[in-house]
Amino acid sequence: MKLNIQDTFNKELPADKILENSRRQVLDACFSFVTPKKTANPKLIHVSKEMLEAIGLTSENATSEDFLKVFTGNKVLENTHPYAMCYGGHQFGNWAGQLGDGRAINLTEVVHNNKCWAIQLKGSGETPYSRTADGLAVLRSSVREYLCSEAMFHLGVPTTRALSLSLSGNDVLRDVMYNGNPAYEKGAIVSRLAPSFIRFGNFEILAARKQHLILQQLADYTIKHFYPKITSEGKQKHLDFLTEARNRTIDMIIHWQRVGFVHGVMNTDNMSILGLTIDYGPYGWLEGYDLGWTPNTTDNQHKRYRYGNQSHIGLWNLFKLANALYPLIEEVEPLQKILDEYADIYEAKHHQMMKSKIGLFIEDKSDKELIGRLEETLQLTETDMTIFFRNLSYITSEDNFDTAFKKIEDAFYVLDEVEEEIKIHWKDWLNRYLKRLQQETFYDQERKQKMDSVNPKYVLRNYMAQLAIDDADKGDYKLIDELYQLLKKPYSEQPEHEKWFAKRPEWARHKVGCSMLSCSS
Ligand code: AMP
Ligand code: MG
Repeated sequence: MKLNIQDTFNKELPADKILENSRRQVLDACFSFVTPKKTANPKLIHVSKEMLEAIGLTSENATSEDFLKVFTGNKVLENTHPYAMCYGGHQFGNWAGQLGDGRAINLTEVVHNNKCWAIQLKGSGETPYSRTADGLAVLRSSVREYLCSEAMFHLGVPTTRALSLSLSGNDVLRDVMYNGNPAYEKGAIVSRLAPSFIRFGNFEILAARKQHLILQQLADYTIKHFYPKITSEGKQKHLDFLTEARNRTIDMIIHWQRVGFVHGVMNTDNMSILGLTIDYGPYGWLEGYDLGWTPNTTDNQHKRYRYGNQSHIGLWNLFKLANALYPLIEEVEPLQKILDEYADIYEAKHHQMMKSKIGLFIEDKSDKELIGRLEETLQLTETDMTIFFRNLSYITSEDNFDTAFKKIEDAFYVLDEVEEEIKIHWKDWLNRYLKRLQQETFYDQERKQKMDSVNPKYVLRNYMAQLAIDDADKGDYKLIDELYQLLKKPYSEQPEHEKWFAKRPEWARHKVGCSMLSCSS
């Protein structure tokens, strides 16, 4: 197994001078060297051929003993120096101080085809940042991260990637619903990849500790390696950096809204500085379209991270990033300006995205209202987001209200509820929509194609992941592979997989893992 190793983070930035793997505050450093924990009986469950190739490996490499050992933390590659990153963060709106990679360990960075990939193991033992926890991950959350990050990539959403999913062979104690009923679960390890795993929180912790020199080093490192298009100098360079991070954050959230993804824990330690979806924990997919929905039971009371609030939180988090970068700029106004522009940029992009979902391409001043009414109408009764938008593309210029309604009625969870008042709203909306379609210049078939390329047919519905987890728990990994293959082509019809183009079954409505998820991963 030959990897083109080119470490930068642990070579160019200051390391923790203490080598002991004990839980503590790590000062004057961006990371701590650690060795992954050896596991009892590692076993590879799934590996991504695509990501193997991305780092210059073959499927054959992945069958070797060496591969298994390296990607479960049982062997450290020659000339590499694994480490855990130091970061802080705002959790649910409050400054939480030092957090850091408590259960993630960066193995190394490799370069292949001019792309650099940092390789990280999630769930391979404690680090100085593990606080009171064990540094381990369980099978259920590892399956969720593995499948979802790849599904997101194929949906066109910026994301970290996943290379392999393994069992550790150790049992891990977890209290899933935080109700005093802990139980042992199978331990697992995901190896995941991204150009970098740096988060907003890496900057915040340095600013909070007034370590401005290291802060500058980290900002300059990030710009040099990941924002090479920034060529300005001095303060302007760091302002441009914030502008770029803002733009990438907006783009990522717009994609989330497009596909109905709810991250669930948008704390600043879970915000990638590269605008990648990171840390797949209690995330969920909208089934019924509902701006107020969050999958995260820990957030049930205030629903801070609900679907309809993700853009506000993106801005809130960027405020924290701007505060962290302030010592490098020392002027409030230009920072404020970058943040003030967020709302307009987001609105404009969101509008375009929604227009593309409903197949409108020319400009009409009534479009804003049409989209606003749709968002309201979709919430009158439980209406499946994925099915609605996918089936909307069947509507043609020949349709009238009745024939158009027939084409979308599969999306309603209880069709009987769509009577009288609700039906009047749909009649109003569909008639406006049919009229508006008359102005479009694309043929129906062309419009359908365009709509189908932004409205996925298949997403990783919460219950689908849970079915794969239940099987995996019994040692059957077929469904993991089936979903993995299915979600590689989320916009394709794949008639052989039609059973996954269906509303959530009733049994999954209130089941733990399907509609209720906690952070206990
Ligand atoms: P999260 O909510 O998953 O983003 O995690 C927040 C913080 O808790 C991060 O610093 C994680 O590294 C840490 N953490 C979460 N789970 C564990 C665990 N099982 N062991 C050690 N640290 C953890
Ligand atoms: Mg996290």
